[in-house]
Amino acid sequence: MKEITVLSGKGGAGKTTFAAALASVAQNAVFCDNDVDAADLHLIFQPEIKESHSFSSGNKAEIQSESCTNCGLCAEKCRFDAIHFNTKKQYKINPFQCEGCRLCERICPENAIQVFENTNNSWYVSNTRFGKLVHAKMGPGEENSGKLVTRIREKAKEIALDINADFIINDGPPGIGCSAISSVTGTDLVLMVIEPTLSGLHDAKRLMELVRNFEIPVFAVINKYDLNPKVSENVIQYLSENHIRLAGKINFDKNVVKSIIFEKTIVEFSPKCNFSKEIYYIWNQITEHFSV
Ligand code: SF4
Ligand code: SF4
Repeated sequence: MKEITVLSGKGGAGKTTFAAALASVAQNAVFCDNDVDAADLHLIFQPEIKESHSFSSGNKAEIQSESCTNCGLCAEKCRFDAIHFNTKKQYKINPFQCEGCRLCERICPENAIQVFENTNNSWYVSNTRFGKLVHAKMGPGEENSGKLVTRIREKAKEIALDINADFIINDGPPGIGCSAISSVTGTDLVLMVIEPTLSGLHDAKRLMELVRNFEIPVFAVINKYDLNPKVSENVIQYLSENHIRLAGKINFDKNVVKSIIFEKTIVEFSPKCNFSKEIYYIWNQITEHFSV
C-alpha cells in the first residue's frame, strides 16, 4: 500500500481538483482530506458519514463569574493577554487567545477558573462513490491542525490495511505550516501542483525545501500552464535544476470550473477533455513509479 499526498505551496493552485480527479482513476484507494483548516474535498465526494468523532485541540480556561472577585491577578499574569476586563466590569477569558497553560487556574485565590478540554473539532469516516473518505472539520480559530491531520491519516491507514487497499490519496493543505508537515511525514510520494505565477513559483520553492528534508520523491504538475507561459518556463527550469520530475503540464480548461459547479471530478464530468487525459497520464507515471 502506497500513500500519495497532493500538495501546493499556495491555495488556489488546483490541489483539490487534482486529488479529486485522481479518485476517478485510482482503483482500490482510501482518501483522506488533510486540509483540515479549510476542507473541501467533501463538496465533490458527497460523503455519507458513517462515523463521527470529536477531537481535542487542547485546553481552554473559563472564569466562573459567581466566584470571581475581580481582583485582576489572572489578567496581570496571563502571558498570552487572554484575560480582559469587559464592559460589564467583569474579567473574561478570550478563548481565541487562551493557550490553555493553566497558570490562571493555579493562581486564582478564589478558585474561580476552570480549565476544560476543547473538543470543538470533529473528524469523520464516510462512504463515497470512490471508496472510504476520512475527513475533518475544525472549529473557527481552533489550533493543533497538525495533530488532527496525524489522527485522520492514522485512521485512513488503518482502513487501507483493513481492506487491503493499494493506495491512500491525501488532499494536503496549502502552504508549509504544521498541517503540511504532518501531511508529508511518512508519505511515499508528493504530487506538487504548481500555479505558474511568481507567487506560485516562490511558494513551490518553499514547499520543496520542506519536502526535501523528508527525502520523499516529488512529482510536479504545472496547472494552467498556458495562462503564463513565461513563468511556466521558469518553473520548468527550476524543476530541472533541482532534479524534480515534471509529471504534467496542463492548460487551463473551462470544464474544470463546470465540473466543480456540478460537484463532479473533472474525469467524471468530461472524461475525454485534455485535462482528464493528462490525469490518466500522470496516474500512469505514479503507478509505474510504484510498479503496481
Ligand atoms: S484571579 Fe480569580 S478572582 Fe481574580 S480576577 Fe481572575 S478569576 Fe477573578
Ligand atoms: S490558561 Fe493560560 S493562556 Fe489561558 S487564560 Fe489562563 S493563563 Fe491565559
